[in-house]
Amino acid sequence: MRDFATAAAPGKINVAFQVGPLREDGYHDVASLYLALDLQELVTAYPAEAGTAYAEMSEASTIILEPDEVPTGEDNLAVKAARLLCEYTGHEGGVRLSIAKHVPVAGGMGGGSADAAAALVACDALWGLGLSRGELMRLGARLGADVPFSMTGGAAVGLGVGDELSPLLHVEPSHWVLIPASYGLSTPRVYGVLDELRASASRGEAEGIGIDPELVTALRDGDPETVAPHLRNDLQAAAVHLAPELEQVFEAAKHAGALASLVSGSGPTVAVLARDGREAKRIATQLSDELEVRAIPAQGPSQGARLLR
Ligand code: ATP
Repeated sequence: MRDFATAAAPGKINVAFQVGPLREDGYHDVASLYLALDLQELVTAYPAEAGTAYAEMSEASTIILEPDEVPTGEDNLAVKAARLLCEYTGHEGGVRLSIAKHVPVAGGMGGGSADAAAALVACDALWGLGLSRGELMRLGARLGADVPFSMTGGAAVGLGVGDELSPLLHVEPSHWVLIPASYGLSTPRVYGVLDELRASASRGEAEGIGIDPELVTALRDGDPETVAPHLRNDLQAAAVHLAPELEQVFEAAKHAGALASLVSGSGPTVAVLARDGREAKRIATQLSDELEVRAIPAQGPSQGARLLR
């Protein structure tokens, strides 16, 4: 048996995110263009007493974590992933999951989902279960809508609740700056505000949802100037309603030379599109100084969950 297994899985941004009307079951249909970034979570699985599963935050984490910000017990998504794997296979081992966090928490970048994806891969290897990629994907889908995409990585269109994925092939690299906030936004709360804003508006969201083919072509061509006008997130107005200070971030990004910027997922992390990698670094330095945050340059697309050691 292995002494340990380390897996990496990417955080994501939604380059476009459209939200359909509230369904009777309380969910929304969405159309999302996911882009996996080279901002990766690392999960190392170590053997522990049979029947136990718990997480700890590694000192190698590069984001600032407030005490108790991420649960380490049964509520942690990586722990849930380990438990689900045991339930599915009948395996009775235990695991300690050391998580090196690099994706901002509760920032709309799917960090918890990446931890779940990495934990599935790491525990499968630690316990020698030999599950197929397809099986791990299906288990991941039961843990959260963003877990399957963190398994596949790259770029993909997501429909349904975001889990019906169609990978996009041959997407050229694009360069981004991520601006985390010191606070988080609850995803259900942001959807709730969107529903309220739509109910009080005179016009509903009559148009259908779907990803603009021009955006897909621009990403494939690697032409950031053409990508820029197509960035769109239907949750942005609701995120800004809950956190009006986001307007300052957009303003500062514009002044710093961003081609465009948008809230990622349900926010509050803002993703800024840069012309190239050098520009991304420059904008990150400028915005870090101006906004007194640690702005992070990143690039996509990036590989999905994989075993490192
Ligand atoms: P989502 O959009 O999926 O709601 P997010 O990408 O905005 O999430 P996450 O970093 O995934 O944000 O975390 C959302 C919440 O999930 C956190 O506030 C935290 O309490 C809980 N959580 C559970 N497990 C984890 C984990 N391994 N890492 C981070 N947060 C976790």
